[in-house]
Amino acid sequence: MSPEPACSCGIYAYHDIAPMTRALREEPYMFGGAVLCWGRIVIHPEGIRAQHARPLALCRPESPAVQQRTALLLREVTREYAIPLLELRDLVAYASEFGASYKPEPTPPSRSGLDRVRGAFSWRQVRRRLGKAFGG
Ligand SMILES: [Zn+2]
Repeated sequence: MSPEPACSCGIYAYHDIAPMTRALREEPYMFGGAVLCWGRIVIHPEGIRAQHARPLALCRPESPAVQQRTALLLREVTREYAIPLLELRDLVAYASEFGASYKPEPTPPSRSGLDRVRGAFSWRQVRRRLGKAFGG
């Protein structure tokens, strides 16, 4: 079944709007929007790959020139999927009504490993002290 952690297939989506906005600025003919994902999901630091996705909304392009060239297409697509065409600034509020993204933990794993070692060390010290206090 796909996507698998080792492969690259699936429907790609960013967790957050900031990297999506950056990607849209680099690629003027790429459209932004929000999707609802389900089925098999592979979680990456920047986003996810999903087995199924349904568009929730599309964003109006930032550039007025691109807006003009794509207005008809975006109107047809949003009508076909019965979804709104939103300004970029309104997308997060709209999408959050449908749920949140499964983001990976922001703490790097090496640090939490170090914290576990520290915790174990102090626990051993506490036991040693308790042992002395209670004669154990
Ligand atoms: Zn695959």
